Amino acid sequence: MLTTKTKPSVWSPEERRAFTLPGKMTVSECADKYRVLDRRSSSEFGPWRTSRVPWLRKIMDSFGNPKVREIDVIKPTQAAVTEAIINMIMYAVLCDPGPSGLMEPRDDDFKYMVVNRLKPMVENCEEMKKHIASEHDLGYEGFNFDNMPLYFMGSNSSAASSGKPIKNMFYDEIKDFPPFAGKESNPLDRGKDRISTYRDRKIVRVSSLQLASDLILPYHALSNQQLYYMPCFHCGEFRTWKWVHLICPPKMRNPDEIRREIGAIHYKCEVCGAKIEVWQKEEHVAKGIWVPKGQKIQPGGEITGEAVVSERHSGFGFNALILPWEGSSWNELMAEWFEANTPQGKIYGKLMNFKNSRMSEVWEDEIEPIKAEALPARRGDFSRGTVPDGCLMLTASADYHKNEQGVRQIYYEVKGFGLDGRDWLIDSGVVTDWKKHDDAIWGSPFPWSNTEGPNKDRPRLGVVLEFIDSGFEIDEICMQCRKRPRQMIPTRGATSDQISPLKANDLDKATERRLKNPQIYKGMIQITVDTQYFKDEIARKLGGESGVGTIFYAEVPDYYFKQLLNERRSKKYDQHGRPHRIWVPKYQDAPCHCLDTAVLSTAAGYYKGVQNWRMEDSEIIMPGTYKKIRWSDVQREKREQR
Ligand SMILES: [Zn+2]
Repeated sequence: MLTTKTKPSVWSPEERRAFTLPGKMTVSECADKYRVLDRRSSSEFGPWRTSRVPWLRKIMDSFGNPKVREIDVIKPTQAAVTEAIINMIMYAVLCDPGPSGLMEPRDDDFKYMVVNRLKPMVENCEEMKKHIASEHDLGYEGFNFDNMPLYFMGSNSSAASSGKPIKNMFYDEIKDFPPFAGKESNPLDRGKDRISTYRDRKIVRVSSLQLASDLILPYHALSNQQLYYMPCFHCGEFRTWKWVHLICPPKMRNPDEIRREIGAIHYKCEVCGAKIEVWQKEEHVAKGIWVPKGQKIQPGGEITGEAVVSERHSGFGFNALILPWEGSSWNELMAEWFEANTPQGKIYGKLMNFKNSRMSEVWEDEIEPIKAEALPARRGDFSRGTVPDGCLMLTASADYHKNEQGVRQIYYEVKGFGLDGRDWLIDSGVVTDWKKHDDAIWGSPFPWSNTEGPNKDRPRLGVVLEFIDSGFEIDEICMQCRKRPRQMIPTRGATSDQISPLKANDLDKATERRLKNPQIYKGMIQITVDTQYFKDEIARKLGGESGVGTIFYAEVPDYYFKQLLNERRSKKYDQHGRPHRIWVPKYQDAPCHCLDTAVLSTAAGYYKGVQNWRMEDSEIIMPGTYKKIRWSDVQREKREQR
């Protein structure tokens, strides 16, 4: 046997002390010992307790497991998985240092993350503070620990694509990563070259689901796909919790009542039917066990069988039923379900959103193709330019272009909105100059079609907002919009998977071309409209049940229907084999101006908040205008959701 003699160390005692790691521990033990949640970012501030979020234990510990190389997590919103990533980063610094990268959807995300989460992670921990020399080491571009750098990268910037090698790469909320196509590189591939030099590299990807962008699915499909099984204390069987077994008393349907009646909602064991009450939830969740695909869990908790994939690629998926916070309580989820599962909720895609973001299920509501023969039946009993009963607000839209002979054509329409997702086409047409356009839309309020009864003394409705496509001749459109600030707004179409169906851009941030006419753009905003989103909504409203959806004025010309049908929803596969639903023209050069104006008048209704209108105790609740959309507000909202 060889005897080992201590060699004289090349390190000074101070240096060696600095390198001493706090012993062998798991990520969750490390977090329980050192992590303190800050008042600024958490309602549950104070020392981190993994026991509060037991399903995160194995997810976090996988990061410290030398056999694991990749971790993919599909989670519901508000599931504290970003905190788990921060705990992994802390573990890296304290126990297993190596250059690391954290990618968030946007560069801007770090302004919030650094101040409210990442800096407090260091500043609230003496052990972490030993690894920084001064506050200058905690910057917005990254943290410079004495034993490893931590780089911050926005998936929207290409800066991340080159640089020094990285051992640990964290991708957070990849559903919000920008879509990529053709020559652009997948943000998830960026940094790949930087990671590959390390043999013990780790890649962590985290996302909630969103149909428009299911980036995480192909990665998760290659993992061992673990699900969280919890025991029934009655029969001892372990099961994952599923939405269908959450039970609401039969007579309780009002969302507000459901929110109030804590204890009314319970979970039913799918094997023996025993009740699991709200107050027993945490106890069950604490006893949960992650089980990989291919394996089974026996009543005592023994796991049998062979996993299909090794833990080298660990995958995790869970839904909001196990979350301990009030914002995800069973009552809250049930209330959200009833709010989403209404004709209106379906039209606006709320049900789909609930299934995706809360239940972590890939769920697409199939939109039936619009049937040409069904459209004439949607002609109403009100004539062109008059407003039917039930209509509460009017919007308008215009699509401007020149035809082959160079003649100006302005297609326009006026749309009315009511409760429960109902809307009406009030007027439509095509004119050749702006004067005629103004007369048609802004000339005088529109008369009621039924002047007797409820409308007798009601004031007539005028258009409150017009969206005008400014893709063509933006100077001219903006000159027109200047005449009616906030009532006429220029738009441009996009088919990207942007966060919100509408997005505001400042136009006066002059580009070179616009500098010629800076005064036109002063203070102007332009709305980017996600055309796919509104085409889906239009299609849902045309296939809907009776009483729901769009009704047209009696004399609406056949060409209007024809143009509505000139595009169809089709499945397209991108270069990675992922399906995407997009609207495509049925025939080359088929005109679809009426579909375009329908999209914009519908979008103007959305801007005014019609999707949130509801009827309550015979009182109509119309939340005010959709606030001026500021990018920072959208960001904050997203953050609060997490
Ligand atoms: Zn049971």
